[in-house]
Amino acid sequence: MRDRAKHILKHELHWPDYQVDVGIRAGFRCEYCGKDLLESYENYDQWQVDHIIPNGNNALENLALSCKLCNFLKRHTIPTVSAGNTDRESLINAAKAIISERRRVKEKIFLRTLEVIKSLR
Ligand SMILES: [Zn+2]
Repeated sequence: MRDRAKHILKHELHWPDYQVDVGIRAGFRCEYCGKDLLESYENYDQWQVDHIIPNGNNALENLALSCKLCNFLKRHTIPTVSAGNTDRESLINAAKAIISERRRVKEKIFLRTLEVIKSLR
């Protein structure tokens, strides 16, 4: 069944191999925030593949399924890890921390903006 689904994704729906592999490995959820990218069309349209280390390395090990927002917040940041922790999971955890901090800052600005706009009403 899994092989048949992969075959249809690749040959009928024209997904590149890496998209199929990245999606299946991630359980079709953003690897940074956990958003289910198959929950709705809106979520599905958020589907992006991030280069964990943005160095042009397209190896599956360097790719992560990401929603548009997490990918935007991470931008081209190289996740910082200690020398002994360069495995994929450590890099993803470091990226999650970067994304989470940037999101926290942007949400704070958003809430202040909302407060100011609501005072206009
Ligand atoms: Zn996300």
